[in-house]
Amino acid sequence: MQILLRKIRETENRFDIKVDEISCSGYFWRSGKHKAEIEGKIQGNISLSCDRCGEQFFEDIEEPFHIEVIDQPLKVTDCLDVIECLDGIVDFDMICKSEIASIQSEYHLCEKCKDIDEFEIEY
Ligand SMILES: [Zn+2]
Repeated sequence: MQILLRKIRETENRFDIKVDEISCSGYFWRSGKHKAEIEGKIQGNISLSCDRCGEQFFEDIEEPFHIEVIDQPLKVTDCLDVIECLDGIVDFDMICKSEIASIQSEYHLCEKCKDIDEFEIEY
């Protein structure tokens, strides 16, 4: 799903898309001349890799996110949750994919390794 930033209205609009079986839904609205905001939620069975043993596993997640999209070059003062779209196109699929990627880049342990942690405490 792609929308031109200048066509986004100030009233909230709903979006609901799917990226590889993971649902991404919420609202978006224009918050300035060159700015739109998206508030949504990533929900689904996401594939993660364990930071200890490297094994792939799946986990049900529900992660809220809130980002700004601007069609101007970023200023240094802008915070990290800002996405630049200089062509003026807000690409929801790309945004959801990058939100999923940022969840996957966090620290995760598989069920087995979580158990090992508890096991080690007993020593
Ligand atoms: Zn593991």
